Amino acid sequence: MSNSFLEQTLAGKTCIALPYCLPNGTHVQVMDEGVIRFEPKNPGDRQLDMVLSCGIHGNETAPVELLDRIVSQILEGQLKVRARVLCVFGNIEAMRQGVRCIDQDMNRLFCRLPDVEDGDEARRAAMLEMQLMRFFSRSIQDSKPRLHYDLHTAIHGSLIEKFAIYPLPPQGRDFDPLQVARLASAGVDAVLLQSTTSTTFSFFSSQHCGAAAFTIELGRAMPFGQNGGVDLSKMQAYLEGLISGDLPDGDVVPAHLGLYKVSREIIKQSDAFVLHIDAKMDNFTPLAPGTILAEDEGMQYVVHETDARVIFPNPDIAVGQRAGLVIVPTESYLR
Ligand SMILES: [Zn+2]
Repeated sequence: MSNSFLEQTLAGKTCIALPYCLPNGTHVQVMDEGVIRFEPKNPGDRQLDMVLSCGIHGNETAPVELLDRIVSQILEGQLKVRARVLCVFGNIEAMRQGVRCIDQDMNRLFCRLPDVEDGDEARRAAMLEMQLMRFFSRSIQDSKPRLHYDLHTAIHGSLIEKFAIYPLPPQGRDFDPLQVARLASAGVDAVLLQSTTSTTFSFFSSQHCGAAAFTIELGRAMPFGQNGGVDLSKMQAYLEGLISGDLPDGDVVPAHLGLYKVSREIIKQSDAFVLHIDAKMDNFTPLAPGTILAEDEGMQYVVHETDARVIFPNPDIAVGQRAGLVIVPTESYLR
């Protein structure tokens, strides 16, 4: 039986403890259940501050296994730490049960207004927000580069296996091609620029912590131990490089990377809503102009865009929620 931080967390055995040092001098502190922080031995070694999160959806196990390997390597002294790193295993109870969520989709619960529904996932999201605020407040004070990668796998199959969602930058800032180029070096083949505010974990750290933050989709959700089909070696090498202080700079975005923006959101307006495209359709499936996407009370959603593709189609939603996104290629990094 392995005794990794993840195993201990799933067994309910992590406890918040006083900070300690590894034999190589790396500082370690468990901040909360499933939340562990590493800091370099010498403050002068610190090149960047980074949050790595996974398991916000409990059944998305490939990133959980990836982060577990990384945490183990640090704890075993195999990975030299030249960054402040906060590793977050998100929805632990859902991970234990192998489900996406217990009560509510946790990645819709960040940046909340105080009057929305209470629940375990809402409380966990609020606690994680506090952890990130606390972690990044020191980064802001010390003017260190700030990164947050929230790692997921998609419910759907995808024509593009690894892609990232780039939250709408705070007012007055644009999307940053350097950040996109870094992701390309990690094996990400497409980046979707968001056009609206959101309630995701990565939007929170972008908006409230000034971090370069991304939701990264790494293949399809599979149970623990069945993720051999997705090659995460480039992503792992990239993250290990960042932890050891290697922040790639000056890369250009490669031509093969697909840059997309949201053309529109298909919102379910009434109970009469019918999604006409196949809900199991792969992400990034092209949509021919004239295709009827959906119908709602007195309305028809027809594809009028050139080179349109669909992403996250989902008919099983409440009125007011999103049934899918129509995306189109873009070359502009402007907000
Ligand atoms: Zn997810």
